[in-house]
This record gives sequence, C-alpha cells and structure tokens, in this order.
Amino acid sequence: MRTLTILGATGSIGESAFDLVMRAGGPQAYRVVALTGGRNVARLAEMARALQAEVAVTAHAEELPALRLALAGSGIEAAAGPQALVEAAARPADWTLSAIVGAAGLAPGLAVLERGGTLALANKETLVAAGRLVMATAARTGARILPVDSEHSAVFQALGGEDAAAVARVTITASGGAFRDWPVERLARATVAEASRHPNWAMGQRITIDSASMFNKALEVIEAREFFGLAPERIGVLVHPESIVHALVEHVDGGVLAHLGAPDMRHAIGYALNWPDRRPLPVAPLDLAAQGSLTFRAPDEVRWPALRLAREAMAAGGAAGAVLNAAKEQALDDFLAGRIGFSDMAARVEGALDRAAGEPGFCDSPADLDSVLAWDAFARRTARIAA
Ligand code: NDP
Ligand code: MG
Repeated sequence: MRTLTILGATGSIGESAFDLVMRAGGPQAYRVVALTGGRNVARLAEMARALQAEVAVTAHAEELPALRLALAGSGIEAAAGPQALVEAAARPADWTLSAIVGAAGLAPGLAVLERGGTLALANKETLVAAGRLVMATAARTGARILPVDSEHSAVFQALGGEDAAAVARVTITASGGAFRDWPVERLARATVAEASRHPNWAMGQRITIDSASMFNKALEVIEAREFFGLAPERIGVLVHPESIVHALVEHVDGGVLAHLGAPDMRHAIGYALNWPDRRPLPVAPLDLAAQGSLTFRAPDEVRWPALRLAREAMAAGGAAGAVLNAAKEQALDDFLAGRIGFSDMAARVEGALDRAAGEPGFCDSPADLDSVLAWDAFARRTARIAA
C-alpha cells in the first residue's frame, strides 16, 4: 500500500488533498504516516482519526495538550513544535505533500528531500527562498519534486516530459485578484476584507491577499525560474480574468501548448498524487461553449509593482529570493494587523531588498538552511522599518 504524509493538512490545499484521499478510499487505499497542522488541532485530530494516521503534529508547542486530548483513545501519536514537524517529514513515506503556508514549510520540505522522498510542493515559498539549495538537495539525494501550484503543474503537464531549458518561453497566467479593475489611486486605501475576496479561486487568506497585490505571481515567477531552470527573460505573465488557461509553453518552432481547466486545486493536487498515472478527479469538466470567451492582457507594473520586484530579485540572484519572500511575509503580517496600507507592502519589500543588497554575502545563494533563515530574519527585521 502506498504511504503518504500531508504537511499543512488543515489548510485550504490540505483539505482538498484530504478530500481526494478520502474519495480514493482513505485508509483502505493509503497508509498515512503523518498529518501536520497549526492552530486547528480539532480538525487535525479529526483528519488523523479518519485516515488512521501514525502521528499528528501541530506546529505550536502550546497546542500539544489540546491535540493529545482530541486524539485520546485513538492510538495516534501526538507531537508539537517546529522540530517535531521536521521529524514527521523525515519519516519514510512514498509521497509527501507540503501545504504549509510561508517559510515555515522550508525545513520540513528539505527533510523530505534529504531522505530522497517524493515531494508534492504547494509551498512555493520553499523554492522562492531557497531554490538553489532545494534543487541541489533533490539532485544529491535523488528526491523528486512534483509541482502543485496550478500554473507550475500546468507547465509540467504541457511540457510532457520535454526539457524546459529547450523551450522558447513559458507564460503563467494570473487572474488579477481582487483589485484587477480598481482605479490604481484607490489601492492605497484597500482594506483587508476587500483584499481577501478572490474572484475565481477559494484559497487561504494569505495567498488570496498575495493575489490581489500580485505578490503571489511574483513568487510564482521565481518558483518557475528555480524549478524549471528557466532564464528570467523566458518567463512571462498574462492577466487572464477567467482563470481557465493556467500556463502556456511556447516551443522554438512556434508551437504553443496550453493547459486548461476549471479553477479547482484538486486537479493539480490529484495530478501530483496520481503521477505518473492519470485517474478521474472530482473536477468540473471544461465547457468552453458555455464559457464563450477567454480574455488576456499584459500585466500593469504600476498597478502591481510586485512583478517588477520579482524581476529585480531574479536579476540580483544570491539571497534575493529569501529576502523578497520573508519581507513580503512581514509586510503581509503588518497589513493584516492594520499597521500599514495595502500599497505599502511593495514599498516595504523594495526597501528590504535595497538594504539587503548592501550586506556582505548577498550575492551568494544561501548554501544551507541556517543561511536562508539568517536572511529571512534580516528581511523581516528590515521590512518592519524599511519603507
Ligand atoms: P492555509 O493558510 O489555508 O493553510 C496553511 C496550513 O499551514 C494550515 O495547515 C496551517 O495550520 C499550517 N500552518 C500555518 N502556520 C504554520 C506554521 N508556522 N508552521 C507549520 N504549519 C503552519 O494556506 P493554503 O492552503 O492556502 O496554502 C498553503 C500553501 O500552498 C502556500 O504556500 C500557498 O502559497 C500554496 N498554494 C495554495 C493554493 C490554494 O489554492 N490555497 C494554490 C497554490 C499554492 P492551521 O490552519 O491549523 O493553523
Ligand atoms: Mg498558483
């Protein structure tokens, strides 16, 4: 029986993965090694019971008593804290989904790669903050990374096994998020509630706000560069409000292969779960006649400075990905807490990148986890003040 682990099981991606695993037969179809979560220990325990997991882990030490209580009598182990997350990820499993949000996903993801496992990666922050280290670790241990971000899954599928380095151009699409059609002057006054409404995708709150600011696409451009080894000038972004075409792969002979589908993450998660096979998934069939039309436009870098910052970070290389990601996480925390406005987020990230560029060692790609975490801490400290 195939064994699997879900890191970040209680989140939006984690719930979709849980749904797919339950539909496939749950514990009759898979042996579940570990499930991890954060604050929602009641749901974590419920999932662990339904899947008869070996161990359930919360990221927060203070939640351990509640998790133990919720698992009482089940025989399922309970553990807590960041080190327990890494230990859970290090336990052998055939397939591990990383659906933790933020840089907290990096250490557990690396633990999967260190043991040579298959890592289905939704946590794009892992590749943005530590792309070189992550890819080098996978190459050294023989681990496999399967993309779960919908655009990257779409590129992976459209490539059909061809080497990304040989294609002319890869384009990922963006819905444009909540403020696609707002007057640019209004963005500075956008509220958290307004930024948390995505027109097409149901996702966690952080990635939904990152879609409105286009930081999500900025992270995804860097993710594509790191994962597929594409030169930055060969990665494009198109605003596509319908979210039906997820990515386009343009070959050197002018042939373009697009990946289309309803905006439902269960396709990309299920594709990675069943890879290299394809199995039916509970995703609505695509009805292009009902859809009628698909529209595309070039992204506006005045409205969305995050895209320019991604290009600058790729040009800088070195620690820029780690700094951009962590500064963005800090700026988002500050926006969520009401300390800064929506448009201040990009200014904070830009300020952190500028200051980091003057630091010794910035031009070198972080070679180990400690070095990534040091840049991460620097970026958070700096983003709190750098405007
Ligand atoms: P959610 O916020 O919905 O879920 C995040 C998960 O991580 C939850 O299980 C949460 O636990 C857990 N978590 C939160 N903080 C920590 C921490 N410090 N340490 C360990 N675990 C923690 O996020 P999403 O599911 O939306 O996104 C997950 C990842 O997938 C992100 O990297 C996102 O960019 C990416 N992604 C998401 C898509 C989507 O459709 N949602 C699409 C493409 C990519 P709890 O809730 O119990 O506190
Ligand atoms: Mg995406």
